[in-house]
Amino acid sequence: ATEIRLASRPHGRPTMDNFSIVDTEMPAPGPGQVLVRNLVMSVDPAMRGRMNDRKSYVEPFEVGRAMLGGAVGAVAESHVDTLRTGDLVLHQHGWRSHAVVDADQVVPIDAEAAPLTAYLGVLGMPGLTAYAGLFDVAGFKAGDTVFVSGAAGAVGSLVGQLARLNGAERVIGSAGSADKVAHLTGELGFDAAFNYKDGPVAEQLHAAAPDGIDVYFDNVGGEHLEAAIDAINLHGRIVVCGMISQYNATEPACAPRNLGQLIVKRFTVRGMLVLDYLYLQQQFMAEVAPLVAEGRIAYSETIVDGLENAPQAFLDLLDGGNTGKMLVRIAH
Ligand code: NDP
Repeated sequence: ATEIRLASRPHGRPTMDNFSIVDTEMPAPGPGQVLVRNLVMSVDPAMRGRMNDRKSYVEPFEVGRAMLGGAVGAVAESHVDTLRTGDLVLHQHGWRSHAVVDADQVVPIDAEAAPLTAYLGVLGMPGLTAYAGLFDVAGFKAGDTVFVSGAAGAVGSLVGQLARLNGAERVIGSAGSADKVAHLTGELGFDAAFNYKDGPVAEQLHAAAPDGIDVYFDNVGGEHLEAAIDAINLHGRIVVCGMISQYNATEPACAPRNLGQLIVKRFTVRGMLVLDYLYLQQQFMAEVAPLVAEGRIAYSETIVDGLENAPQAFLDLLDGGNTGKMLVRIAH
C-alpha cells in the first residue's frame, strides 16, 4: 500500500517538500472495520489549514502521519455484516491507496445514480456547502442579485447556478482566468463575470453590478470582501464560506477596511461551516441530484491521475489550476 504523509509544516505557500510518499504494509481491518481500496480522492482548500499546527474546527494533520480527506473506494475486505466486498463507499481516509475504516465512518454510495466523482464534488461536501450557504446562511430569495467569488470552483460554480435556477435577478462571478470567466458566462449561465486579476475588484464588480448586490458568497476574502461591502445593498447578506486569498499568508491581512458601512447599510456578515449543515444532506440530495442528472446543473471536474501526484494536485488547486472540483484518481 502507499500513503502520502505530511513531512513538515509549511510556512506560507506549501511546497512538495512538505509531503512524503511512503510504501507501507497492507493495513489489516479489525472487528467492526473494513479495508477500502481507494479509487478517487478529493483535495480541498481546507487541507491547507490542517497543515498548520493551529486550533480550529478540526484537528491539524500530524507530521509524519498520513493526511486525511474525502475519498471514494471499494470495500476489499469486510468485518461487518452491513458491508460486502465490492461495495462502494465514501469516507474520510483519502491520501492513501488502501484505508482501514470503522464501518460506522463510511457511507455507502450508489454508483448507478451518479458518477463516483460527483460524490466528492457537486453532490458531496462542496455541493452541500453551496446549498446550505446560499439558502440557509444567506437566506437567498428570488429577485436577489448574487455575487460569488471563486465562482469557477467546486462550491462557487454551484452557488451561481442554484441562484440562477431559483430566480436570482442577476448572478455575477469572479475567477482567475479568461477561460474561467468564459466558462461562467457560457456553460454555467452567469449573467456577468470578471477576472479578478484584470484590475481592482471593486471597479470590476461595480461595472458588473451597477445596481449593487444583495448577497455576497465569499470564498476568497481580502480585496473581494472589501469590494462586496462597497457594493452591498441595504440589508444585504454576506456569507463567509472561505478566505482562500489568505490561507498562505504569513501576516494577518488588513482588508476589509470599510466595515463602517455596516451601520449605513445594516447588512449581515455570517461565517459558515458545512459540518453544521449535515442535517440538510438528504434535502440537498433530493433537490440537487435530479437537476444534475437532468443536466440542468453543469459541473466540471479536474482529475489528476495517480496518488503520487496528489501533493502537486493540491498545490495546483491553491493556484487555481482547477475548473470545478479538483480530484485525484487513485485506481480504476
Ligand atoms: P475551489 O474549487 O474553488 O478551488 C480553489 C480556487 O480558489 C482555485 O481554483 C482558485 O481559482 C481560487 N483561488 C486561489 N487563490 C486565490 C486568490 N488569492 N484569490 C482568489 N481566488 C483564489 O475550492 P472549493 O470549491 O473546494 O472551496 C472554495 C472555498 O470554499 C474555499 O475558500 C474553501 O476553503 C471554502 N470552503 C468552505 C467550507 C465551509 O464549510 N466553510 C466548505 C468547503 C469549502 P482562481 O483561478 O479563480 O483563482
